[in-house]
Amino acid sequence: MKIAVAGTGYVGLVTGVCLAEKGQLVTCVDVDYKKISLLNSGRSPIYEPGLEELLENNMSRLHFTTNYQLAYRDADVIFIGVGTPEKQDGSANLSYVYEVAEQIALNIENDCVVVVKSTVPIGTNDKIEALIKSKLAHNVNVYVASNPEFLAQGTAIRDTLHTSRIVIGVEQKYAGNVLTEVYKNFDAPIVMTNRKSAEMIKYASNDFLALKISFINEIANLCEIIGADIEDVAHGMGFDDRIGNRFLNAGIGYGGSCFPKDTKALHWLANFHDYELKTVKAAIDVNENQKLKLFKKSRKYYESLKGLNVAVLGLTFKPGTDDLREAPTLVNIPLMIEDGANVKAWDPVGMKNFKKLHPEGINYCNSIEETLRDTDVCFIFTEWDEVKDIDLGTFSKVMRYPIVIDGRNCYDLASVKKAGIIYDSIGRETINSLETALV
Ligand code: NAD
Repeated sequence: MKIAVAGTGYVGLVTGVCLAEKGQLVTCVDVDYKKISLLNSGRSPIYEPGLEELLENNMSRLHFTTNYQLAYRDADVIFIGVGTPEKQDGSANLSYVYEVAEQIALNIENDCVVVVKSTVPIGTNDKIEALIKSKLAHNVNVYVASNPEFLAQGTAIRDTLHTSRIVIGVEQKYAGNVLTEVYKNFDAPIVMTNRKSAEMIKYASNDFLALKISFINEIANLCEIIGADIEDVAHGMGFDDRIGNRFLNAGIGYGGSCFPKDTKALHWLANFHDYELKTVKAAIDVNENQKLKLFKKSRKYYESLKGLNVAVLGLTFKPGTDDLREAPTLVNIPLMIEDGANVKAWDPVGMKNFKKLHPEGINYCNSIEETLRDTDVCFIFTEWDEVKDIDLGTFSKVMRYPIVIDGRNCYDLASVKKAGIIYDSIGRETINSLETALV
């Protein structure tokens, strides 16, 4: 079977490489020439644990090209894995998906199953099929199937090779059979539905997880006010298997390329159909507030950050990725700079991308210690292992004032108490006052 994948981003590339790992011959297509030449040299354009090794092991079954005409011409199956970013009004921008659909229509010369892996609003697969059929250059049969992706960045390879489920939404049995064949070497339950249900499974799953995060963050905010401890609360809740113990980590909200846009897109779609998704709207609103939580907390210690040296540990929206899309740092660091702070920042893999967005005005450091040196406050935005494993004595040893405002609850309170720093985290008691920390 000849498989082509449109898009070599986090989803397209991981899909292509994992299909090759399972024995398929895959041609990965992208419009970005730089990405393709990097991939042809066996290197990955994105940081994703395990990806480069898998890429290297499967180079014989993988082909990378910008020549979509050739890639689609005689493909049996074409996956669409291009971006569907958020538009100004919150709806999904489908222009990349439609562009690929048109390229497919104009170039396929064989019967073909087009598989939509990109996250698209309910009803989009129908539109893609109509578009392709209206523009076909050759007399061939095309079947469109929805096959949403559930991988999480940072664990994308594991999530794909050992996926919890494979959702296939089809209107024709043939397309379902072809996809079952494509996934025959994956050990996962197949959920076969119609296309709209498959599209909805993706949005409902992401929006539910976003809601879970916003819920625990609100409970954390209340814990801070009334003196409960969110870590204990979440631990206690997690034993109930109706709730589960995952996605109960309080913090500064969700970011990344999916939850923010997928909550807004579903809310937009519901509104479009004159229905208000109140729970999803609440998740979005809570998250917007939560993003600024660390900056707001700093006001407890300083009237403003003017003239202060500020350390930022972690730039990416979560550990294990170099992706900055919707990372809380993107709004917080400009606020700090506007407030007059001298910002020093560190991230093990995200600095290169952050520098592209903010080449000036931030002192990028090579180590955590260098970042903390002579600073008046430290903000933790990403729970990288290097941050979690730091010797807590370092804060008081190298900072000018050891005030640590932690958006990811990296440390246990007993250890922090001993370290003599002021430690302000999410949904927990603040440890030490300025006076006790400095004696
Ligand atoms: P991405 O931005 O990382 O990658 C998209 C790629 O598509 C880019 O490399 C771009 O150059 C390429 N592209 C654009 N137009 C093209 C064309 N005409 N032909 C070939 N390539 C083209 O996006 P992503 O994060 O991989 O997300 C892709 C889709 O998957 C989105 O709909 C997203 O919501 C969904 N998704 C993402 C994740 C995730 O964690 N990133 C998880 C599940 C689902």
